[in-house]
Amino acid sequence: MAGIIINNVRIFDGAQLRTGIGAVRVEGNRISEVADSGRRIEPQAGDRVIDGQGGTLMPGLVEAHAHLSWPSSVERFVPGMALPPEDLVLTTARNARILLDHGFTSAYSAGSLSKSVEVVLNTFITSGGMPGPRLVASSIERSPPTIDELDPGQVADHGTGPQAVREFVKQCASIGAKSVKFLLSGEDALMPGASQQLLYTQEEASAAGEQARESGVWLACHAQANEAVKMGLRAGFRVLYHCTYADSEALDMLEAKRDDIFIAPAVGIIQATLDANPPPHFDMTHMKTSAAEVLALQKKLVPELKRRGLKVLPGGDYGFPFNPNGRNARDLELFVEHFGYSPEEVLSAATLLGGELMGMGDELGQVKPGFLADLLLVDGDPVADVRVLQDRKRLRAIMKDGRFHKDPALAGLAGA
Ligand SMILES: [Zn+2]
Repeated sequence: MAGIIINNVRIFDGAQLRTGIGAVRVEGNRISEVADSGRRIEPQAGDRVIDGQGGTLMPGLVEAHAHLSWPSSVERFVPGMALPPEDLVLTTARNARILLDHGFTSAYSAGSLSKSVEVVLNTFITSGGMPGPRLVASSIERSPPTIDELDPGQVADHGTGPQAVREFVKQCASIGAKSVKFLLSGEDALMPGASQQLLYTQEEASAAGEQARESGVWLACHAQANEAVKMGLRAGFRVLYHCTYADSEALDMLEAKRDDIFIAPAVGIIQATLDANPPPHFDMTHMKTSAAEVLALQKKLVPELKRRGLKVLPGGDYGFPFNPNGRNARDLELFVEHFGYSPEEVLSAATLLGGELMGMGDELGQVKPGFLADLLLVDGDPVADVRVLQDRKRLRAIMKDGRFHKDPALAGLAGA
């Protein structure tokens, strides 16, 4: 079968930068050959050969905390969160394309503003014809019926108690969601003091866990409070977001499950809150105070999680007006700046660990023969400075599943 060869590249393979200048061959939707140390790959009949011009070839990025239906993006500012249904659907589809444009070939959803928009969008993406990352689709975020923060899209089917929670998980699974997200604790940024509030009982969380295993879906949680982290772990949640107030007992519990769980602190939204310059009528004083506290705690927490061998991934709640979709690669810089990661370490978290997060660790997130061809050709050296990934013009090629979303022959032309 005719393939595509990209020669003359430095290769970051998901774990490390390989030695010397190398080459990669893609056949169909998979990587068929990887050569390094100055070796070129001899083209077979019909192969297209691309000169990488000494750029860096690496796996596509994985966003661990994606909100495709959160309205704001680098292409469109939306002051609030709620959109009319048609606008919400098209905005979600557009944000999928925007993530892919910025090098994110996979996204793990951290919740949607509509029950089914991500599931439907995913069928359009996977069947071809709509650009977007590989997607672990989520249903709507669930908070209990008495709380309506964060989910203006919520409409029905809420009740309290383990049975109601089971029904919700079952229903999300029947719609086709792969991940179901719960707000196990509240969020200070939205309501002062809420981060310490538990929104579910252990019985409810555990019922969600049982149902999720029965229905074959994964659970993710917003967990700021220490007890929320523990509740999620006891209930078998697979992805834990934030974990800001985890105490040493919670850290031990996390460590005991380190092979089965993933954590995304979502530092992007924190930094964006601190950086935001809101108009005078919009008071962010409280949000900024809370963000400063969270950042100070996470600067201690995340290095400790890493030291204990936990899988911590970039992914930062992009989609808010002051933290728009499309800026996602900034999280990598923040891991280096705040959490003591080397560029290589955070690149690995965003690719190799990202493949595991997507449930595809044996075929996604690495430049390796047999792996799926989700690749970026970067004009520059992200291993020296991860910030180059924030400039989409430096992404000379973006390949997903063996096909160019951005073709290097066309890069540099108007709009590319
Ligand atoms: Zn979120």
